[in-house]
Amino acid sequence: MAPARVYEGGCLCGYIRYRTEGQPVFPHLCSCRMCRRWSGAPTVAWVEFPMDEIDWCGPGGEPQLFRSSARTQRGSCPLCGSGLCAVDDGYANVSITIGSLDRPNLIVPDARHSHARTRPKWWEARVMHSGNGGG
Ligand SMILES: [Zn+2]
Ligand SMILES: [Zn+2]
Repeated sequence: MAPARVYEGGCLCGYIRYRTEGQPVFPHLCSCRMCRRWSGAPTVAWVEFPMDEIDWCGPGGEPQLFRSSARTQRGSCPLCGSGLCAVDDGYANVSITIGSLDRPNLIVPDARHSHARTRPKWWEARVMHSGNGGG
């Protein structure tokens, strides 16, 4: 059996770090109002992993959670504020920001762009599927 691919990432300051060998699912973009406000970016790239396969391995442990809607909490670093994850109540997966991965080329968002209509109109997100980018 081939060794599992390892995905690692973390916040800007290094206080919150994560590591997983879980299977990534549903890599996509979202431009909803909450993603924009939470991140400060026009669009957020997300990928889901099984929550129980995420190891929060930095000195800060798990990210600080903020309840952003009735059923969703968003996790960030309490020191530097980096947006790292979102968790829906009762859902087995955690959404991780692709931008926080050490190697963001490993996961390419697919064509699904949630809430594309609420993106800033000067912004056209275009995903480049250019083969095995690596690194
Ligand atoms: Zn931090
Ligand atoms: Zn969103």
